Amino acid sequence: MGMKTPGPEAAPRAAGAAETGDAPVRAVLFDLDGTLLELDMARFLPVYLQRLASYVADLFEPEDFVHQLMRATAAVIGNRDRSRTNERVLYDTFWSGLDPDRHPGARPERRAEAMARFDRFYRTEFGRLRHLARPRPEASRVVAAARARGCKVVLATSPVFPRVAIEERLRWAGLDAGQFDLVTTLENMHTCKPQPDYYYEVAARVGVEPVHCLMVGNDLRDDIAPAARAGMRVYVVEGLVVNEDEPGAPRAPRGSLGQLLAWMERPAPLGNIFANRATLHGNSAGLQ
Ligand SMILES: [Mg+2]
Repeated sequence: MGMKTPGPEAAPRAAGAAETGDAPVRAVLFDLDGTLLELDMARFLPVYLQRLASYVADLFEPEDFVHQLMRATAAVIGNRDRSRTNERVLYDTFWSGLDPDRHPGARPERRAEAMARFDRFYRTEFGRLRHLARPRPEASRVVAAARARGCKVVLATSPVFPRVAIEERLRWAGLDAGQFDLVTTLENMHTCKPQPDYYYEVAARVGVEPVHCLMVGNDLRDDIAPAARAGMRVYVVEGLVVNEDEPGAPRAPRGSLGQLLAWMERPAPLGNIFANRATLHGNSAGLQ
C-alpha cells in the first residue's frame, strides 16, 4: 500500500488509539438499530409501545402499563448487580410496580397468561412495524466480511428487548441470528448499554480482550463512548447518529457502513487489516 493520503479507506481507529495500539481486531460488535438497520428508535418507540399496550389492554391499563414498562427498562439500564439477568431485573421491577386491582394481568395467577401474550405480540403484531425500518444494503455483507476475516461477530444491540423481538428486527435488516457468535438479549445479559460493563461482558462472552474488539454503532452515548472507555476500538456509522453532544466520544472515526465494508473486504496479506501498519494512517481525518 505504501504511504497515502488518508482517504475513505483509512482503517478505523479508536479515539484512544494510543492505548489500543495496533492490536489486531478479533471481534467486531455491531449495534442494530440505526447501524445495521435503518431504524430511528425515537420514532419507533412510541409506536411500538402504543401497539403493545393496545394488544394487552384487557390485561393492563394502557397508560400505566407503558409507564411501568419504561420504569422497568430504566431499571435494567441502571442496574449494576450482575448476579441477575436483565430479564429478571425487568420483570421484578415491572411486576412490583403494577397494582393488581388496576391490572388484571399483574395478578399472580394471570402472569403466565400475560407473559404468553407478550410473546405472541412479538411473534405476530411486532412484524407489522416493519414499515418503520429500512434495510441497509451492506448490512449482511459487512457481517459476513468480518466473519471471513476470522473475527468473532456480535450483535451488540441494547439488551432491553427479548430475543424474539431482536430476531424480528434482524429479519428486517436482512440478517439472521445464526450469522452471529453472540446476540445480546434481555434474557442472556446481566448488563446494559451505556455501561462499559456491558462491553466487558460481551468481550468475556466471546473470549476476546476488549483491546481486540471493534464496536460499530450510531449512538455516541450508548455505543461509542462506553466501548472506548472499555478499551475497544470504535467506528461511528453515519446516517442516524444520535447523542452528538456526548463528551466521551471526541474524534471517533466515522464513515458509512459501505466504507467499513470496503475495509473488511480489502485483501490484507498480514492477516488482519486492522493490524497492518501499512493500511493504518494514524488518523481518521478522511472519515470526519
Ligand atoms: Mg443504535
